[in-house]
Amino acid sequence: MLPPPEKLESVRPFKLVEFFSFSSLAVIFIFTFVLTYIISDRARTVLLKKSEEYALLLAENLNHQVYLQFVVPTAIAYGSISLREPEQFSLIDRVVRNTIHSFRIDSVNIYDAGENIIVYSTDPSMVGKRNLGGMEYKLALRGQHSSQLVSRGGSWVFWAGGGGGEKKLKTYIPFRHEKVLTWKTGPIMGVFEITQDLSVDYETIQGFLIMVIITSTAIMTILFVVLRLIVARADRIIYKRVLEQRKLEEQLHQAEKLASLGKMVAAVSHEIKSPLGIIQSTAEILENKVKAFDPQNRLASIVVAESNRLNRIVTEFLDFARPQIPHFVRCNVIEIIEKNFNFLEPELNKSGIRVEKNFASDKVIIDGDPDLLYRVLLNIFVNAIQAMPDGGDLIVGVNIAGKPEHLEISVRDTGIGISPEDIARVFEPFFTTKHKGSGLGLAIVKNIVEGHGGIIKIESEGGKGATFIIDFPVRHA
Ligand code: ADP
Repeated sequence: MLPPPEKLESVRPFKLVEFFSFSSLAVIFIFTFVLTYIISDRARTVLLKKSEEYALLLAENLNHQVYLQFVVPTAIAYGSISLREPEQFSLIDRVVRNTIHSFRIDSVNIYDAGENIIVYSTDPSMVGKRNLGGMEYKLALRGQHSSQLVSRGGSWVFWAGGGGGEKKLKTYIPFRHEKVLTWKTGPIMGVFEITQDLSVDYETIQGFLIMVIITSTAIMTILFVVLRLIVARADRIIYKRVLEQRKLEEQLHQAEKLASLGKMVAAVSHEIKSPLGIIQSTAEILENKVKAFDPQNRLASIVVAESNRLNRIVTEFLDFARPQIPHFVRCNVIEIIEKNFNFLEPELNKSGIRVEKNFASDKVIIDGDPDLLYRVLLNIFVNAIQAMPDGGDLIVGVNIAGKPEHLEISVRDTGIGISPEDIARVFEPFFTTKHKGSGLGLAIVKNIVEGHGGIIKIESEGGKGATFIIDFPVRHA
């Protein structure tokens, strides 16, 4: 399991991805709002321009129709034009309504040219109102058309021009005399005020913008979440790599330490071995002599036994310190195992251990070093016997399987078992739980197995015995 984030901080080499995820979020955010502003402003400008053109087209038509169908006939019939006369009013009303009936128009007002009074309106309540024209009316009297956007209500959302509420575009166009049968226009008689309701169009644009903002925000959020996930994953990978690197460094350090320790042990053991040999043989001579005249005296026998034990330990030290380079020859694994059992038979009988042999065949031939393999199995069998002081079962299996072929040797005992914490340590040199153990047996075993290109593993539940599994690739010369 990885340690908490504060510890993680210390091994993170850089925060580029994290920086990237936050900065990209900010960039997308700013970009979205700038883009939305530009789109909305452009949409509003285009809408106003098109609406004004629409009003101008209508005004041209209105000018023509009102002049031909109302001004001229009325002037002929009545001598003068007065819209206060109901007949004249209803005539112009008919003409105007006929002209605008298929256009999307809110209202049409006609101002007179002298006094800024509404003389005609499609909304009768407006007729007679004064001074509503403003600057646009004056410009129209000078022959220029212009428009004015009138807003009522609205919200901040539509920030390019204010959104929602009521939006009306009022366009003011001069109303002129026409010179019949020519394209020329005459003097200005009044001003048309054409009002279009743009509220729905504005709302459509506003809806579109809200959609753009929501979509961009959603994309931004997804992108950010994805980037955060990548950051977290990258962090973990980097952290794992740093840990692996540290572990390798530690292993290298440990290997260097062991190598120098091994050299020292080898030198000391070598120096001890010769005097120890002399002590051993002298003690044996002494033992025989003491036995001759004092058979009860055990002192010399104790010296012999202890010097033997010391010799075994020194030999193990030397074995551990010396590199175990295998000399590969063709050998029969079953024969090596049987040789071990012959040697261990007295011990097995003494401890009341039953041996079960599950061999695929009585000839399992591989290329290996028979002496080294003998020592591997001896160490494992001796440990198993020591783990079952009150007897038990020792089950040995040999099997060849797989492609490429692998030899699997399993040694199971029903002894005291190994705790999970100890399983990780038993192959360490000098690790022992025994009173008189050296803790080198399994370290030597591991060296030899790895020298054969194999692996060794242990399965054990504390108190329920242990199984050692050796897995060798089968070599054929
Ligand atoms: P030693 O036998 O000198 O202690 P080893 O390296 O052979 O050294 O073994 C290391 C330790 O592994 C032993 O002390 C023992 O605790 C444990 N061990 C090895 N084999 C077994 C086994 N079959 N059952 C229980 N414990 C074992």
